[in-house]
Amino acid sequence: MALLADGVSRLLIDGKLTSGGAGGFATVNPATEEVLGEAANADAADMDRAIGAARRAFDETDWSTNTELRVRCIRQLREAMLEHVEELRDLTIADVGAPRMLTAGAQLEGPINDLSFAADTAENYEWTQDLGEASPMGIPTRRSVVREAVGVVGAITPWNFPHQINLAKLGPALAAGNTVVLKPAPDTPWVAAVLGELIAEKTDIPPGVVNIVTSTDHALGAMLAKDQRVDLVSFTGSTATGRSVMADAAATIKKVFLELGGKSAFLVLDDADLAAACSVAGFSVCLHAGQGCAITTRLVVPRARYDEAVAIAAGTMGSIKAGDPSKPGTICGPVISARQRDRVQSYLDLAIEEGGTFACGGGRPADQPAGFFIEPTVIAGLTNEARVAREEIFGPVLTVIPHDGDDDAVRIANDSPYGLSATVYGADAERAAGVAARLRAGTVNVNGGVWYSADMPFGGYKQSGNGREMGVAGFEEYLEIKAIATAAN
Ligand code: NAD
Repeated sequence: MALLADGVSRLLIDGKLTSGGAGGFATVNPATEEVLGEAANADAADMDRAIGAARRAFDETDWSTNTELRVRCIRQLREAMLEHVEELRDLTIADVGAPRMLTAGAQLEGPINDLSFAADTAENYEWTQDLGEASPMGIPTRRSVVREAVGVVGAITPWNFPHQINLAKLGPALAAGNTVVLKPAPDTPWVAAVLGELIAEKTDIPPGVVNIVTSTDHALGAMLAKDQRVDLVSFTGSTATGRSVMADAAATIKKVFLELGGKSAFLVLDDADLAAACSVAGFSVCLHAGQGCAITTRLVVPRARYDEAVAIAAGTMGSIKAGDPSKPGTICGPVISARQRDRVQSYLDLAIEEGGTFACGGGRPADQPAGFFIEPTVIAGLTNEARVAREEIFGPVLTVIPHDGDDDAVRIANDSPYGLSATVYGADAERAAGVAARLRAGTVNVNGGVWYSADMPFGGYKQSGNGREMGVAGFEEYLEIKAIATAAN
């Protein structure tokens, strides 16, 4: 079987691959601006059927209680994706603009392999915990705590790391016994649609358990948040949309789990190897053109060495060219769309208006006539009060900010509406760990440690969201807790 053989993707609703009620829409290669093909454009009636199918599959089949079936199906999906991994790699590079290099990790193979973690967790999980006998209020009682699926999950995802985010929701949600309606971003519909093909053709996942609804209409996401047949919404995207999802979900008091934006800080302490730290900071902001929610986009350095730090970061970023993501050496590809490129450019213009300067970059690369490219850019001369230091840009843009010692560095890092991630570099490991402990962020890298892994929880403080994805904590987001008390005599 070849994926997307006719260049047209379909919806997966109630076990069937179908076309969309609103016809089709073009999906575009962001590196070339060429139309790749067509995706099914679902309408509200399609979404209504998908929610109905997920509800029926949850209420009327043994999916939620048959752990053996679920574990088998998740492993089948993993195998099917691995079998087609080279096709998926080409597709991911073309649909997402993801650099080839990153498809060996978080853009493709990482999340495929991480499906094992979801299956293994379900297989080994203590679904029922025996709390033993007690006599609350004098009544002898045998007590147990049972964990069971929440029900129908609405999963709404963005375009930047679509396999990672689609699978980090699907894997644990299914492993926990839920049924799912996945509404991916319209910018990367094919990455989600191929999952539908593989599920329908290569797994025993029963009809209705997974429904995949691609659409240009964002209101279909809002339908998931509002519909009372949906029990939980798992959302990854911008903070503004997350706020709207939370408000829409309030009417039915459904559980809402949000992974949102970030403006994470990279703290360089005064005993750190400045050259190494600032090079790493510059390099990491270029990965996938900076389109990562947890990328550290504020480089906070000792004031006495500010100019040196700016020069090092600019030396690294100035040497990285935004270019063809299909080439093995590329780390900075295009941003996803003309709209996103223009948004990043408007922040670059704002940096100058705010009194900043560019130590490198600052606009579109002259050598890329087509494609949505932005030059890796270092902004200098601003403080943490500048809008470019406070708002998420989502491009290959680093703002360098001076600090006056550890307390000031911590203050600057925490002075943000967001709290997704942070990095600390310092030669004295104990001191660096002490700084890390004071940061209000969901993931912290100390001296180059890697927090991204299937068994590590990922998520944010403050307006970066609530709840955790991945790890056992991420699995348990998809579970209800039932306390059962049985009279002992
Ligand atoms: P977005 O918020 O515009 O869209 C995300 C998804 O929500 C899309 O599927 C979209 O169709 C849908 N949507 C839009 N309006 C909706 C509504 N009113 N109700 C329900 N669904 C709606 O985000 P984006 O531009 O696709 O992605 C970029 C953003 O995602 C960035 O802010 C980034 O930080 C964030 N992000 C966060 C994480 C994380 O784990 N914290 C990971 C990746 C991306």
